[in-house]
Amino acid sequence: MADSTGKRALITGVTGQDGSFLAEQLLAKGYEVYGLIRRLSTPNTRNISHLLDRIHLVDGDLLDQASLQTAVQAVEPDEVYNLAAQSFVGVSFTQPVVTAEVTAVGALRLLEAVRTGAEDAHFFQASSSEMFGKVQESPQNEDTPFYPRSPYGVAKVYAYWACVNYRESYGMYASNGVLFNHESERRGHEFVTRKITDGVARIKLGLAKKIALGTLETRRDWGYAPEYTDLMWRILNAPTPGDYVGATGETHSVEEFVRLAFERVGITDWKSCVELDPRFARPADVDHLCGDARRANEKLGWTAKTRLPELVRIMVDRDLELLGTSPRTHSN
Ligand code: NAP
Repeated sequence: MADSTGKRALITGVTGQDGSFLAEQLLAKGYEVYGLIRRLSTPNTRNISHLLDRIHLVDGDLLDQASLQTAVQAVEPDEVYNLAAQSFVGVSFTQPVVTAEVTAVGALRLLEAVRTGAEDAHFFQASSSEMFGKVQESPQNEDTPFYPRSPYGVAKVYAYWACVNYRESYGMYASNGVLFNHESERRGHEFVTRKITDGVARIKLGLAKKIALGTLETRRDWGYAPEYTDLMWRILNAPTPGDYVGATGETHSVEEFVRLAFERVGITDWKSCVELDPRFARPADVDHLCGDARRANEKLGWTAKTRLPELVRIMVDRDLELLGTSPRTHSN
């Protein structure tokens, strides 16, 4: 067990993909970790079930200002990581107001709770490459203008500027990580990468015949989530606050992701297993994201190490395992 740093971290979104990896990493560094958790009719602690005896859960919701103030005052955090969001772009088109309330105004509520309750705490905002949307230059870096293409992207732009504004207005240590897509075996099943790896595992095991996707052409800069949560910690532990892009610097199409996933289980005729379904297409889409993380490399010593083939392997193998078979029997 790591020696205690005496530091307390409050993580919103602790039940999500990134929150669970970040909690593990902070525990390993000796932090006392507090996770904000909202009330759901069915508890959703699967990603943190292995940590429940080592972290503290605090009730709260980004929609409820008083709950955030109570949580911040109770925890007295040294570091606050705002990872909570309505984080799925597709749903942001069908639930734009909730997306704005949670993802945009929720960040403001938390900033306000920290400003009034723990003004010396370091504050991290999980910003997104979706803010670049209809990209104005490529690759995208910290100076690239934003042009969001979804209610999610619009909400993240608001939260980004709220964070900058609290830094400039109140002298708070508040920083953004402008994170390009990062995936893992803990990614939600609605996201295209996990939909593909879960679907491929099901097809391999005879549990399904096809995967339905909106498009194969979209290009993304996909990295491995634990490396991005490490970047979050580096950002909050830099000598001065600032904003940093986190990305691999490589861009790949959904088609490449699909092909690699099927290759992993030995299926070469993958085209017959994929159907395009316009229901999954977006009213406005982001075609091509590719990040330039040189600032994070030069100032924080961070680089994304896991490349797409390795990421796909990790995710497919885990999905095979979850569906009840050892990945080793399918390796090629
Ligand atoms: P995720 O798995 O969808 O997790 C989202 C978290 O937010 C969950 O813990 C969820 O709690 C919580 N949450 C939602 N609404 C809430 C509310 N009203 N009050 C309190 N908590 C609430 O997202 P992720 O992939 O870990 O991403 C973490 C953050 O990074 C998000 O802000 C996301 O937008 C941002 N980001 C992610 C990526 C990426 O590629 N993963 C890229 C750029 C930025 P429940 O479990 O209760 O639903």
